[in-house]
Amino acid sequence: MSVLIVGSVGLDDITTPSDSRADLLGGSASYAAVAASFFAPVRMVGVVGEDFPQAHIDFLKARGIDLEGLQIVKGKTFHWAGEYFGDMNTRETRSIELNVFESFRPTLPESYRDADIVLLANIAPDLQHLVLDQVQEPRFVVADTMDLWIATTRERLVALLARVDMLILNDGEARQLTGETNLVVAGRRILDMGPRFVAVKKGEHGCLLMSREGDFFAAPAFPLASLADPTGAGDTFAGAAAGALAAKKGEITFDDLRRAVVRGSVLASFNVEAFSLERLKSLDDRQIAERLEAFRRLVAFD
Ligand code: AMP
Repeated sequence: MSVLIVGSVGLDDITTPSDSRADLLGGSASYAAVAASFFAPVRMVGVVGEDFPQAHIDFLKARGIDLEGLQIVKGKTFHWAGEYFGDMNTRETRSIELNVFESFRPTLPESYRDADIVLLANIAPDLQHLVLDQVQEPRFVVADTMDLWIATTRERLVALLARVDMLILNDGEARQLTGETNLVVAGRRILDMGPRFVAVKKGEHGCLLMSREGDFFAAPAFPLASLADPTGAGDTFAGAAAGALAAKKGEITFDDLRRAVVRGSVLASFNVEAFSLERLKSLDDRQIAERLEAFRRLVAFD
């Protein structure tokens, strides 16, 4: 079973306390699609300009990602610049040039409409709605979002929540969306808005998974001694989780979601070890299996 991923595809300029790099492959869909591709076939929907380097297309293709839904249009690719401070838990956006993203309307190729698992990676809720309008009967829909949409298009985001099975967001976003400071209460409020499941990410402190039926699961983040670039950790988490769900046949249970968020956590832990998607580029199944095993030992107790 495959996973359909829609989101941003762009070029990022990233500054950390120790390094600065320009024109790196970025965007929520890029991270999510590459992460998902370790677990299931991926179909990607997005837009880039004619300036988008062929090397990035080749990389996505080499991961087996179906790019029929990636529009290449006249103009410049979405460009984002961000800077990290201190222990890199603080980030500021330096600039956003929407470019071809400004007039982007996701159009699903005919072959994508029977999508099984859908990941609405971080883009404007209106565009996420448009994708759901075009899919037939997906087995499971996951949505990601960000503070910008909670602040600027809250109503469209809340309407989207009634159409998805699971929302993934970080702790600050959960508080912003619900007005609740306690994350368990915030999670419950989000479940009241429509999705059956919610995953609240807490950065280096892991993630909290909750269901409307009252199930709980807390996964730590894999402890890392050094981190190069946190960009895309959330997108990688969501992509790997959606890919893991696509690899599971039949009805998706809470246990499947536990396994999925652990895979999300593991892939995100690799992603932050290098800039952009560089670490995922060199990653292989054996390394994933080893870190999953280390993760298992990390949380096992009698
Ligand atoms: P994250 O670190 O998970 O917040 O994701 C970072 C990625 O999101 C970068 O690669 C950016 O290109 C992309 N991004 C930044 N702002 C936006 C936006 N407004 N809409 C969609 N994607 C964005």
